[in-house]
Amino acid sequence: MYVKQCPECRKKSYSSSKKGEWNCPYCDHDLSEEEAQSPKED
Ligand SMILES: [Zn+2]
Repeated sequence: MYVKQCPECRKKSYSSSKKGEWNCPYCDHDLSEEEAQSPKED
């Protein structure tokens, strides 16, 4: 599981893969160039 934070709307988007296209589900901003991170589980 990966997470990216959208620089446009500041919301977090989750995906099971960091490959391929990754658009923000909230504002449709292209997140492909953003760095994927592992979400912290707590
Ligand atoms: Zn967004």
